[in-house]
Amino acid sequence: MQFLNTLDFAKQLDATDALKKYREEFHFPKINGEQVIYFTGNSLGLQPKRTQKYVDEVMSDWKELAVEGHFYSKKPWWDYHELLAAPLAKVVGAQKAEVSVMNALTVNLHFLLVSFYIPTKKRYKIICEEKAFPSDQYMLQSQVRFHGLRPEDAIIEIKKRDGEQMWRTEDVLSKIKDVGDELALVLIGGVNYYNGQVFDMEAITKAGKSVGAMVGWDLAHAVGNVALKLHDWQVDFAAWCSYKYMNSGPGNVSGIYVNQKYLGKKDIPRFEGWWGNKKETRFLMQPEFDPLENADAWQVSNPPVLSLAPYLASLEMFEEVGMEALIKKRNHIVAYLEFILREIDKEVSSTFEIITPAERGCQLSVFLHGQGKELFKYLMKNGVITDWREPNVIRLAPAPFYCSFEDMYRFGQILKEGILSNEQ
Ligand SMILES: *Cc1c(COP(=O)(O)O)cnc(C)c1O
Repeated sequence: MQFLNTLDFAKQLDATDALKKYREEFHFPKINGEQVIYFTGNSLGLQPKRTQKYVDEVMSDWKELAVEGHFYSKKPWWDYHELLAAPLAKVVGAQKAEVSVMNALTVNLHFLLVSFYIPTKKRYKIICEEKAFPSDQYMLQSQVRFHGLRPEDAIIEIKKRDGEQMWRTEDVLSKIKDVGDELALVLIGGVNYYNGQVFDMEAITKAGKSVGAMVGWDLAHAVGNVALKLHDWQVDFAAWCSYKYMNSGPGNVSGIYVNQKYLGKKDIPRFEGWWGNKKETRFLMQPEFDPLENADAWQVSNPPVLSLAPYLASLEMFEEVGMEALIKKRNHIVAYLEFILREIDKEVSSTFEIITPAERGCQLSVFLHGQGKELFKYLMKNGVITDWREPNVIRLAPAPFYCSFEDMYRFGQILKEGILSNEQ
């Protein structure tokens, strides 16, 4: 499709957008009395209007039923999390039994590594990407030290080549092969938070499995953004947060995936608690743990129902729309944003560079040459919420659920004004 950098053209694209009615389903912050252009759905998704109802329902059940709410609420609390499994399984390409919702992301990665990082004298190394999200780095380093090993011996970071902005799949695959039977675990962010690159999860998983390693994915920036087939790819485990592209609210509850082959086992290493125990025997309060047959066996505490409620509201929207339609709009709107960026770049004579590779989801990371935080602040003051990453990068993620093509056009105009006013 031939794009045009005009308001009319952008409005035309909106008019034919199959998801256009969903924009009305979200609350937008306002700056200068106007709805913002929101590019930070990769950091904290907007609040769906229907979420309030889900939370209010729990609040009023608690008010009216108190402890009886565990069993007699409209959606009983004791197995509320089960309502999320089926729609969530569709989003990540898993079987219903393979997903569960609990805790927060980094917490879940720690719990999952109890089961999936079991170093031996020979096989103890971990492969991850260089400059992984800091929490993931701290998590891996502390896990390694917990096992009495040194991070510098056990953790191998895949580097980008000099002068390149992306990781090459061939470099990841050859490193996996090299480390071979010393490799215990591959754990990478499926979509990199900084440059927006989508890793070839299928090929990397296959390579990791072929040398006998465990393969897990941190899907914080992937879930609700890119197509996932965790089950078909034979991924061992994964975890993600729900507050980025999944719009479930700040710091909200995380999801996990555990491959079917590990389910229903009593002898798997795991940190356990009563909510992982079979429902039928849970309240017999017996001394011996009797694990659920699904990924809920990794649940430890009774679930935070007030956090599950917004996630359920969000999943209902994913269920209505489906990942395919979201991805279709995502591709279209990101391509339009890229076009707008290139047009503006021509008009202001090359001041920035897109560092996101063709393997991308929703996010374009833009390196600003000679422009800096001033421009970022200008955008913010003028109603464009982006985010800033050192040394000189803004990240733009037009979430397909609620961003419009007109937003992309208007952003381009504000960006141009900002660059020109900076140069004066
Ligand atoms: C957002 C993000 C996190 C956040 O972790 P929390 O435990 O939810 O605070 C972790 N890892 C990656 C890769 C992320 O993008």
